Amino acid sequence: MTVTGKVYLVGAGPGDPDLLTVKAHRLIGEAAVVLHDDLVPATIVSLAGPGAEILNVGKRCGAKRITQDEINAHMIEAARRGLNVVRLKSGDPGVFGRLAEEMEALKAAGIAYEIVPGVTAGLAAAASLGVSLTDRRKSARIVIVTGHKAYAGAIKQNIDWKSLAREDATLVVYMPGHEFASFRDELLEAGLPTGFPAVIVSRATSSDQRHQFTTVGNLDSLPRFESPAILLMGWSLEQAAEKARAIDYAELMLASE
Ligand code: SAH
Repeated sequence: MTVTGKVYLVGAGPGDPDLLTVKAHRLIGEAAVVLHDDLVPATIVSLAGPGAEILNVGKRCGAKRITQDEINAHMIEAARRGLNVVRLKSGDPGVFGRLAEEMEALKAAGIAYEIVPGVTAGLAAAASLGVSLTDRRKSARIVIVTGHKAYAGAIKQNIDWKSLAREDATLVVYMPGHEFASFRDELLEAGLPTGFPAVIVSRATSSDQRHQFTTVGNLDSLPRFESPAILLMGWSLEQAAEKARAIDYAELMLASE
């Protein structure tokens, strides 16, 4: 009887190795093969054992090196060699991570798999700013969307802000791109007030994390941050935004003395 390996579809969290789950940490250390995305930092990949085969199967926009079919084929081939595979994805594997397609391929090939969740970027970004995404007084829902055309385009041309942009929601936009002027126009048209708080967070939880608070009315003046970056909007950000404004003001006063 031939022995087949198992594929673990593992969330690596937002970048900080301390935010890996204990299970993810253990599985990475035990895996014979680790297939990881670009966004997974070297500090996490290096937790693999000395004998492990490690392959970067990242395919960031603009520099497509490997197709989804090729990634699926690698996973299946390694499992058929009887090896346990960790397919390591940034954040949570089920949030904009093409998990559904990979599960389908594994199922079709008769390979056993298991999903191991991870801390998704939106949650990590909020925590790093000291923000609660929900607030009984202001925000009763979290709306997670992507600005990426491959997702938006498959279903709709643009994000349907008219139905999503509500004042009692915290909006979390993955892959927001850089076209913030059109976001501003669409959000204002959908009825959000110009003063609705917003923040862009780049490289959340890494040592070079950056962020900038603004408002929906001023979204177009956001600087271009390094990717990966995520956009959060909502009244739940209000206190953190006010604190940031107070710090900016104090620094301005100090500089002018
Ligand atoms: N599965 C991942 C998301 C993959 S899509 C997750 O659950 O987090 C890639 C997008 O995620 C990036 O374009 C960015 O919008 C966001 N992202 C991932 N890591 C991030 C980080 N450390 N800081 C800010 N945004 C991040």
